[in-house]
Amino acid sequence: MINSVRRTVSTCVLAALALGAAACSGGGTGPAHPARADRPAQSPSAAPSPAGAPTLAPGPGGLTRVFKNAARSKERVVALTFDADMTADQGPRAAAGEHFDHPQLISTLRRLKVPATVFMTGRWADQYPAEARDIGADPLFEVANHSYSHYAFTDDCYGLPTVPPARMRTDVERAFTAFRRAGVEHVVPYFRFPGGCYDKQALRALAPAGVTAVQWDVVSGDAFATDADAVSRQVLDGVRPGSVVVLHCTRSAAPTTERVVRTVVPELRAKGYRFVRVSQLIGATRKG
Ligand SMILES: [Zn+2]
Repeated sequence: MINSVRRTVSTCVLAALALGAAACSGGGTGPAHPARADRPAQSPSAAPSPAGAPTLAPGPGGLTRVFKNAARSKERVVALTFDADMTADQGPRAAAGEHFDHPQLISTLRRLKVPATVFMTGRWADQYPAEARDIGADPLFEVANHSYSHYAFTDDCYGLPTVPPARMRTDVERAFTAFRRAGVEHVVPYFRFPGGCYDKQALRALAPAGVTAVQWDVVSGDAFATDADAVSRQVLDGVRPGSVVVLHCTRSAAPTTERVVRTVVPELRAKGYRFVRVSQLIGATRKG
């Protein structure tokens, strides 16, 4: 069972699901560099390079760049992102009936015609290949990488087991391999660190994978939340033009998220916001 030690004001992520504890952060431990790129990043064969998915070129020292939000232009665009968390050792819990997926949430996004980016772990795609394929086949969505195992890329990340630096790239590529095995289309070369935890060492280790790291500027607080109204308020209070909102696509640990979407989507639209995928925000950033 999930032991919900909640800190709803800060970023709650599902990082420590494996350990039965909630995990919260303030949006990442490393620097954010949402600056524009002046040349396209390399897309090695190990990483997918779907037509037109823009990436940010490596930063100083060859470090993987981190995108947090787009420039605060007058254009009211916002990207909703959904982390499909599943940690490598959670298979027995899924077999026992715990739902790490959330088909109803995906249906609601479709019904409301909300473009979205799903940050999927490879383990999730292995567990739910038909759902992973179904999400990727819908042009409304794009599928990004949330690691294979949902283990941490820094030493101290909510008690998650840690991926050693020498295996970081492999873990990310293993997730892309899982997506391919499941037949997932619309895979974009973006990576979200489990727990949002990263440091220079992790950014360096991932550079050969050709991904852009994607954090967020709006914490929904949906992980382990039971009060949908509070989560909705937090999203509505936080969104600015160009925002990236982190939510979750994991029914058992984020049970209010579908309701939150039904609340915030019409309200944000009423304020003039248009929903876009992360690739559109990064594309706009590159054009800068
Ligand atoms: Zn996660």
